[in-house]
Amino acid sequence: MKFWDTDDTKQVGNTLNWASSWRETLFSLLEDIPVGLCRYIASISIDGTSATTLIIDSNTGELLCRPFLYNESLPDALPIVTSIAPENHTVCSGSSTLCKLVSWWNSNNSNKGSAVLMHQSDWLLWLLHGKFGISDYNNALKVGYNPETDSYPSWLLAQPFFYLLPSVKAPGSPIGCIKEDIRLRFGFPKGCVVCTGTTDSIAAFLAARATQPGRAVTSLGSTLAIKLLSTSRIEDARFGVYSHRLDDKWLVGGASNTGGAVLRQIFTNGQLEVLSSQIDPLVPSPLDYYPLPATGERFPVADPNMMPRLHPRPESEVEYLHGILESIARIEAKGYKLLKELGATEVEEVFTAGGGAKNQVWIKIRERVLGLPVHRASQTEAAYGAALLALKGVGLQN
Ligand code: ADP
Repeated sequence: MKFWDTDDTKQVGNTLNWASSWRETLFSLLEDIPVGLCRYIASISIDGTSATTLIIDSNTGELLCRPFLYNESLPDALPIVTSIAPENHTVCSGSSTLCKLVSWWNSNNSNKGSAVLMHQSDWLLWLLHGKFGISDYNNALKVGYNPETDSYPSWLLAQPFFYLLPSVKAPGSPIGCIKEDIRLRFGFPKGCVVCTGTTDSIAAFLAARATQPGRAVTSLGSTLAIKLLSTSRIEDARFGVYSHRLDDKWLVGGASNTGGAVLRQIFTNGQLEVLSSQIDPLVPSPLDYYPLPATGERFPVADPNMMPRLHPRPESEVEYLHGILESIARIEAKGYKLLKELGATEVEEVFTAGGGAKNQVWIKIRERVLGLPVHRASQTEAAYGAALLALKGVGLQN
């Protein structure tokens, strides 16, 4: 299962009760499972939005404050977090889970003793298994967990709020059996296991089944995000590059501001299809653009002042689109080259997800520019990746 929250931070703190809507969605999804299938469900896992954080009272199970959404920034907590964490650590961003925890800790005096921190997927899984304080090392990264040593660092454990931190397991580890009342209500079999989850974007990567080092997934949505399975861990705050652990390997990622948002500013989806069909993908475009929706780039070039470059604009719309698609492909190639320079496993094969994945002409252009096989991923839904984790939790191979 995959759970979303929204970009619309204007609604935060207003009437919408996020936690209730997530709970209702979870149970309505369970109700939607055809009755005859429920008895075959051996295990369940859920992915959630990274850094969406809840603080719960472990005596009552009630929320001690409204959920903090993934993109909420807590600038009040940032100076404290940067003073306790190592320089350029993942938690040193106003929207990190740790900033949310510190901000709550500093603004609340009651119920602190029984409080526990949960990520969105931990909380949804808890509704099913009923045990407090269990997470996975993908979700726990942004609260400061060290996936390499498989422990919380000493600087974090030295903080007065350390006891709120959940214990951490690998994604797809069995937590416990589904609660008996839920099992009977929906007709799940005895022994149906609830397993730890992961974050949305990792679940989407898992869905593509790029299981060997050197396999990568490029998401061509509004932005261009690349994720590469590597045998080595890479971190570089300058480019926003960091690694998530996946068993004995590392999922290295970087995100450029280029991507579909620029295409959307210029072309409709219908135009994209018609014009793309007239491009010969085997012929290189001489046009050299840097398509950005606004000023600033982070990866593979860290330059907050970089200006979009979309000129000269040829008279032919086909040539213009060809130049843009090819330029985005060059940025993608540069991204994979940078990951290699930073020490990641060299990319050998690329799967594609997101709205741009359906463009077969673009796939051929990217194959030529990257010099690699490029395919559309057959599964891209994060929910599919969560189901693969559930499979792992009962000892079945993906
Ligand atoms: P997100 O979830 O990041 O908002 P999507 O994965 O839904 O984005 O992808 C939407 C993007 O895909 C749009 O920005 C659009 O320009 C782009 N897109 C849609 N159709 C095509 C196409 N045929 N070729 C290339 N890009 C496309």
